[in-house]
Amino acid sequence: MEEINLLAEKLCAEHKLSVSEYEFLIKNRTNYVTEFLRQKAVDIRKSIYGNSVYIRGLIEFTNRCKNDCYYCGLRKSNLNCDRYRLEEKQIVACTDEGYELGYRTFVLQGGEDPFFSDEVLCSIIRKIKQNHPDCAVTLSVGERSEESYRALFEAGADRYLLRHETADELHYSKLHPEGMSFKNRMNCLSVLRKTGFAVGAGFMVGSPFQTEKELSEDLKFIETFQPEMCGIGPFIPHRETPFAREKSGSAELTCFLLSVIRIIKPNILLPATTALATLIPDGRERGILSGANVVMPNLSPLAVRKKYELYNNKVCTGEESARCRVCADKRMQSIGYQIVVDRGDMKSF
Ligand code: SAH
Ligand code: SF4
Repeated sequence: MEEINLLAEKLCAEHKLSVSEYEFLIKNRTNYVTEFLRQKAVDIRKSIYGNSVYIRGLIEFTNRCKNDCYYCGLRKSNLNCDRYRLEEKQIVACTDEGYELGYRTFVLQGGEDPFFSDEVLCSIIRKIKQNHPDCAVTLSVGERSEESYRALFEAGADRYLLRHETADELHYSKLHPEGMSFKNRMNCLSVLRKTGFAVGAGFMVGSPFQTEKELSEDLKFIETFQPEMCGIGPFIPHRETPFAREKSGSAELTCFLLSVIRIIKPNILLPATTALATLIPDGRERGILSGANVVMPNLSPLAVRKKYELYNNKVCTGEESARCRVCADKRMQSIGYQIVVDRGDMKSF
């Protein structure tokens, strides 16, 4: 049999490969291998999660950021960004609405906004957990101190999403200005785990300067760190950033990597991301059909949605939360999957 087919079989049998084998797999993938791994990923996902899809209500609570990541529309150097931050009562109101819509996980995501000190964030977390003790709270607010992560965990936050962005230190330095460090990012992930959070890592597919080599390092990192969650989506340029003229990542490659990640860690919580849905109209469906098991519809107030512009043409910025919820239901049903009212913790297998 061809070498590439043997490698695909080896991945399925051992749930791991060497970095150079991952690279070979990505570079030499054929339609046959892609379809083979996709089917395996779906089978594995179904054996653990059935046809259930977990939903997370995404609340984009601040677009203010002290960082200057070259790829992101919220970077502080973008002076054409109309900045906002939600108040505690607005954030809590989003979760109350979300609860009625069947969400049992809320993801509070934002730029690194110093206004949200530990005190301010902890108060919000406590309030949400007090109103909805049966819900999980996930934070996605970037790099903080060990002490801060501990305070947030003790206030009741359950999970933390911090994409590693790239597992290659040199590549990291090409995506971020001086002062942001790969080592600190990676250290934050370890600290988050030690603190007790369920941790989400992840990366962009097709970010500038990325080759199959960097992607294979990302896969090795997922394999060794074993995060509970992994967010991957295509890079999409934003007009007001240094990467404005770079091209978008590939939806096809993103789906292929979703399948590979599902096989590497069978029970991982893996979202079909908004970036994938922005690049292709049936991105959420294609993500699920490649092995993903989570979708994250938008729960942010309609008035701020367009302002949370990480990249251009982001979808679902004009719809009410209730309509996003119905839309997600329809999309999943159309491919034979079912959104469930559940916290959606990672299952053991
Ligand atoms: N400030 C926090 C969370 C908000 S950004 C943080 O940086 O961790 C959330 C994610 O959006 C980032 O991790 C990044 O992977 C993704 N993102 C930012 N700009 C993007 C772009 N232009 N295309 C695709 N994804 C992007
Ligand atoms: Fe800020 Fe996150 Fe955007 Fe970086 S990716 S500029 S930390 S919001």
